[in-house]
Amino acid sequence: MKYLIVLAVIAVVYALWRSQRPAPPSQRPAVRPRPAAPQDMVRCAHCGVHLPRGEALQQGGHSYCCREHQDLGPN
Ligand SMILES: [Zn+2]
Repeated sequence: MKYLIVLAVIAVVYALWRSQRPAPPSQRPAVRPRPAAPQDMVRCAHCGVHLPRGEALQQGGHSYCCREHQDLGPN
């Protein structure tokens, strides 16, 4: 009976110790930045470089990487 009480005390102390200890890194929820949403890539009609649609300049149904190539037109 005496050993049972000692065991119970050890179990309670162990449970308290476990609950106060921070979780190991592998069990913590990973806080990592979300990757940017995939964007459509377009091709510069002049030089052929690929760039996100949001950064491309549109003119006459063509996409361009910069103002200079927009002025030069499709190649
Ligand atoms: Zn270009």
